[in-house]
Order: sequence, then C-alpha cells, then structure tokens
Amino acid sequence: MFHAAKLLVSKLGFITQTLPDIKPAYKGNKKNIDTQANGGFFLHSLYFLYKICFIQLFLLPLQRKISAHMKKNILASLAALTLLCSSTIVYAKPTNVIYLIGDGMGFGAVSSLLLTSDELTGFEMAPVIGLNETGSANNYVTDSPAGGTALATGTRTCNGFLGVGPDSVQLESILKKAQKMGKKTGIVVNTTLTEATPGAFYAGVTSRKESYKIAQQFTESGVDIAIGAGLTAFINRPDSIDMTAVLINKGYDVYLDWKQVINTQSEKFVGILQMSDVHRRNKPSTTKAGAADGAEVCLAAQLAASADDSDTTRFSEPDLYLEKASIKAIEQLSKNAPKGFFLMIESAIIDGYGHNNDAEGMVAEMQEFNRTLLALIDYVNKHPNTLLVVTADHETGGTAVSYKTHPVNQPQGMQLSFSTKGHSGTVVPIFAYGKGAEKFAGIFKNKEIPGIIESIMK
Ligand SMILES: [Zn+2]
Repeated sequence: MFHAAKLLVSKLGFITQTLPDIKPAYKGNKKNIDTQANGGFFLHSLYFLYKICFIQLFLLPLQRKISAHMKKNILASLAALTLLCSSTIVYAKPTNVIYLIGDGMGFGAVSSLLLTSDELTGFEMAPVIGLNETGSANNYVTDSPAGGTALATGTRTCNGFLGVGPDSVQLESILKKAQKMGKKTGIVVNTTLTEATPGAFYAGVTSRKESYKIAQQFTESGVDIAIGAGLTAFINRPDSIDMTAVLINKGYDVYLDWKQVINTQSEKFVGILQMSDVHRRNKPSTTKAGAADGAEVCLAAQLAASADDSDTTRFSEPDLYLEKASIKAIEQLSKNAPKGFFLMIESAIIDGYGHNNDAEGMVAEMQEFNRTLLALIDYVNKHPNTLLVVTADHETGGTAVSYKTHPVNQPQGMQLSFSTKGHSGTVVPIFAYGKGAEKFAGIFKNKEIPGIIESIMK
C-alpha cells in the first residue's frame, strides 16, 4: 500500500514536470507528428486524453462519493494512462543528436577532472558508458583527420586523409545523412572550422593542409549553423575568391564578431571568429609545441603553446565560449526543425595540452569541457528526444595521473605524467545520455559509432 502510494507520487512528480514541456514541443512539431508518424488524428486524440487524465489526477482525491479503495484503483489507472500518453507523445518527437568530441581526451584527461573536482561532473552523470578503440586504417595510433573520419563516416582511413577512404574517394558523413533525413545541422568548434575534426563531417581531401579546398567544401556543405575560427582559409586565398561572399550568396548570415553570433536570431549563419574569441589559453604553456613522435604536430599544440593572456580583451569570458556557442547553436537549430537537428561540437585544445605535456592546461581545459557538457546534459534532460554522445578521436600525450603524496584529505595539485608528445593508441571513453544511449554500452571500434547514431536517429 505504502509502496503503491510512493510510486504514484513519483509518477505524479514526473508528470507535473513533463506536462509543460510536452505541450509546446508537441505544438511546435505538430506538422512533423502529422507527417512523420502518419498518425496526426491519433496523436491529437492522445494529447486530449493526456490533458483530461492529468486534470482528473488532481480532481479525483477531492471527490467524496467515491470510496477510498475505488479512488486508489482509479488514481493508479489514471497515473498509468497519463504516463503512457506522455511517453507516446514524447516518443513521437523527432530525434536530435548532439555529438560532443574531445580531441585527445583520453582517460588521463578525464581522470584529471574527476580527481580534482569537488562537484559532480557531467561524466559521472552518464547513464551509459562505453569504450572506443581508436585506430586508423594504417596505424594503431590515429591522427586527427583519420580519427575524425572514422567518427564522422564509419570508415577507417589512412592517417592524413580527411573525409575520404583509403582509396581517396569521398565518404558520406553522419551529418550528411542527417541532412538527407531532413534534419538541420550544425558545427561548433573552439578551433578553425576547417580543422580535421569538423572537416571530417563535410570535406573530402587527402591532406588536412588543404584548408582552402576544405573552406570551399564547407560552403557547399549545406550546414545550417557553424561557429568557429579560421577566417584566413575563407578570404585570403590563392584563388582570390571571397568565400564569405559565397556564403552570403547562398543565404547565410556571416558574422566575424562574437557579439553578433551570440545576439543573432538567424537560423542560417556562420560565425568565423578570431582564435582569441573561441579559445583563451588558460595560461602560457611552459613547453614548446610537441614534436609528435613521427606524427604531425597538431594545430591545437601550436595554439596551446602560443598562449597569451593579453589576447583576452576582445571577449570578456572567453573560457565560456564553447558552452555559450553550443547553446546558441542549439537554440537556433531547434527553431523550425520538424525533423530535429544534428549538432557536432568539438573541444579541440585538450589535444594541444596533451602534445605539450602541460598538466595544468589540460586540467583547466577539462573544466571548460565539463561546463559545456553540463549545459548539454541539462538540455537533454529537458528534451528527452535528444541523444548526446561524448567521446574522443584519440588519446594524446599518453597521459596518466602520477604518484604524489599529500596530507590526509588535503590534495595538493595534480601531477600528470606523459609518455609521448604525440597521440597514443589506448582506448578512449564513450559517455551517452538521452534517447538510445543504452546502445553505447560496450566496447566499439571508432568506425562503429556513426552507424549506431544513425540507427537511433532514424
Ligand atoms: Zn593531435
């Protein structure tokens, strides 16, 4: 009896939280429900029934003519029916996907945050955790272009190749597949828009250095919203074409200033900002950009090493960029999106601190990553039709937490040790939240991840 009452109260709590959310979302996506589920009348009726049940749940306890036993039975039935209706309506909403990639974010980086954080981190809130075997077609240790290509297209390619298979033929990315499903698409990065990880979702080149070609391919990508840096590849080009003008001709609003980005109501825009807008290096690195043990030196390593606190004046809260840009992109992507949206977000500079073996920088970068993650988890909790997948393209630095004694319960700093200035081939974590997250429990090859997302996105 007590158990039943407790269950009912918990369900009532769930329903009261859910009702205000269901109504606008249902109305906003009415057209989608009609066409996608081919059951407009059914869902209209269901929503009507849901409202009736919800009101009755509160009115019934006030009825005096009904016996207590009857009330209990009716209340339980109403609660079950309301729950069923609400979950069916939520299920009918289109799936949104947020794919958050921490470049170089291995277990050492995640551990450095978990051990130094007093608050619950976003990682610890993950209902589902998996492992991701990184690796490219020709090496146990992948670089960012091949790692990004596997995560974006489901194909392992050769190190150095971006968005193309080992045969140099362009592959179809999960972002392109989302577009074919009618979803709106977005890219948010704290590096250049033409870097390896974002490029893997829309470009196809055999060298990441072809940034001019990648910028041109970006203009043909059909991505609705993109925020990042890297203006040079768009305007200062060997072919003298102004790619920002090309974007404007295609109907984009193009912003070169952070304030324009954060204040815009546009649903089709590209923000191409200064590097100092999208990433404030938290402190000057004490080491030079790492020679990557045979692999190329990533741009992130150069950026992390070129730290200069004096460049923070243009943007008062540069360390909040990734969180704010991600939420802005979601706000604009979710407008007029009857089929939902797909958003790829990259936190790129974790990799740089790994290359530079900079423990303090890595911890600070992971704190920024966590702030973004918490904001995204909050969105997923309010929009349960959203899948959030968090992983890395590879580990960088061979990072580990090293032994250091301290007085009881008084940790003093975190000491990280590094085994390389390049990438390593150790597995990286997957954290999954929201719709379909349970499919990410297990050990996967990097190339399997986009296929799983696609199966949930359908
Ligand atoms: Zn790297």
